[in-house]
Amino acid sequence: MFDLVVRNGTVVDGSGAPGRRADVGVTDGRIAAVGAVDGRGAREIDAEGQVVTPGFVDGHTHFDAQVMWDPLGTSSCWHGVTTAVMGNCGFTLAPARRDARALVVRNLERAEDMSPAALAAGIDWTWEHFREYLDAVDRRPKGLNYAAYVGHSALRTWAMGERAFEEAATDDDLAVMEAELRDALAAGAIGFTTSRSDQHATSDDRPVASRLADWVEVCRLVGITGAVGRTFELTSEPRGSSPDADVRRGWYDQLQQLALTSGAATTFGLPAAVAPRCYEVLDLFERTAAAGGRMFGQTHCRGVSVVLSFRTRLPFDTLAGWRDVRALPEVEQITALRDPDVRQRLVFEAEHGEYPAAIGAEARKPNFAQLVVLDEPVPPHRTVAELAAARQVSPVELMIDLTLERGFDQLFLQPLTPSPDDDLVRVLRHPWTAMTFSDSGAHMSQIADSSIHTYLFAHWVRGREALTLEEAVRMVSHAPASLWGFTDRGLVAEGMVADLNVFDPDTIGPRLPQVVDDLPAGARRLVQRSDGFAATIVAGEPVIVDGEHTGALPGRLLRF
Ligand SMILES: [Zn+2]
Repeated sequence: MFDLVVRNGTVVDGSGAPGRRADVGVTDGRIAAVGAVDGRGAREIDAEGQVVTPGFVDGHTHFDAQVMWDPLGTSSCWHGVTTAVMGNCGFTLAPARRDARALVVRNLERAEDMSPAALAAGIDWTWEHFREYLDAVDRRPKGLNYAAYVGHSALRTWAMGERAFEEAATDDDLAVMEAELRDALAAGAIGFTTSRSDQHATSDDRPVASRLADWVEVCRLVGITGAVGRTFELTSEPRGSSPDADVRRGWYDQLQQLALTSGAATTFGLPAAVAPRCYEVLDLFERTAAAGGRMFGQTHCRGVSVVLSFRTRLPFDTLAGWRDVRALPEVEQITALRDPDVRQRLVFEAEHGEYPAAIGAEARKPNFAQLVVLDEPVPPHRTVAELAAARQVSPVELMIDLTLERGFDQLFLQPLTPSPDDDLVRVLRHPWTAMTFSDSGAHMSQIADSSIHTYLFAHWVRGREALTLEEAVRMVSHAPASLWGFTDRGLVAEGMVADLNVFDPDTIGPRLPQVVDDLPAGARRLVQRSDGFAATIVAGEPVIVDGEHTGALPGRLLRF
């Protein structure tokens, strides 16, 4: 007798091996049998016509705050993710001294676009040390499993307070950081993260704290991380994307040196597959492995994109001439947009106005040739430029017209890091990458990348036939599980934790994002559901069945 039997499905086990017809028997949260299972289950799921895969592992999320108010882990839970790694890019909510919480939040509210009101309303700060934050996560009811990094910006703020945003660390500061990092790792943090990106600034336009660190400070902290065999994640330096090959080479060498001397598994995002850089980085991974180190990339299957709409944000919102109209209630905005004079003024301003040198991607002047009208969740899409030409209007007029015709929910999608298809597929297939860059929990009003996992199957496997089902399953299950060191999940095999997905390969895919006001304090965000899943199972318990939460919350904090 099993607790659960998933019967008659095609098991795609995550290793990349061909799918095979098999039942999966589960006992005590673990996979107890794979094959022809005779024994009955206390619960049975008929997976006829469906595939049975490992639950997906997402190595790049920012659920640190959301885990405190959203037990289910939306929207990732609707896309097959059963394990999420949070605390990326140096941004964590711990450690945080009682009198310095505002400083800790300052590091992430803009860089990760988290609503300060939602953070204030949704977080009960029961912790100071990182170890206490882990305990708080442990106590929360959870639908998914979480692993947590400790972030450099929080560590630095812990040691230095306000000076973290202004100064180099003294020996004493560094000793305080090191002690807290050691304790966090001993309590089960998966590793240490930092950002050296010039894109990461605070809401008062200063660099986030980790950017003030010199390389010696980074090496000391990564050394502690590597000494206990954990992972080091970073947002890369501008040098990593320099047009000058020698400058890039200098950065790669410096990073490789650190990976080899520290022993830390080193990982960073490869959200865009742009040649020649993407191939240089794959080569760096291979050279590092050959030299005895570990380095791997976090890939993305469509390039990071920003969702734009009149209901959320538009690039035009920063223009002086648009501000008065955008400040109006929706019905009055509609009236204004129908007024020919107002409309003409807005169009002129959008085309000729001065866009600020803003950091937020939603504030840059749109690239209309790449901006798509998001009326289907997966390509092919028409661009704003194409549709405008067909209607013989300007791109800005088209955006206004579609919004008036279809309502304020009309979405547009601006790719920020377009990737040529052939390069992208090669990067996705590489053994030292995992398809994992969802950023879930962050950028909640602009980016809907929690759906990359279902997009991978709908677009690249079914639509384009560029990847086999087995390859795609591997890159979201066994690949990330083994790269991040989850040795007990990511494969459908006896003895593994029974984190499983049951889905129809002919229908799996994202739905369109929706705008909702369901964050703490009523803050707005995008959510995105999916089609095709019969069940998502965590530790043997079905959490989502036919798209609906069963009420079960079997997720765990995974300590290392
Ligand atoms: Zn991130």
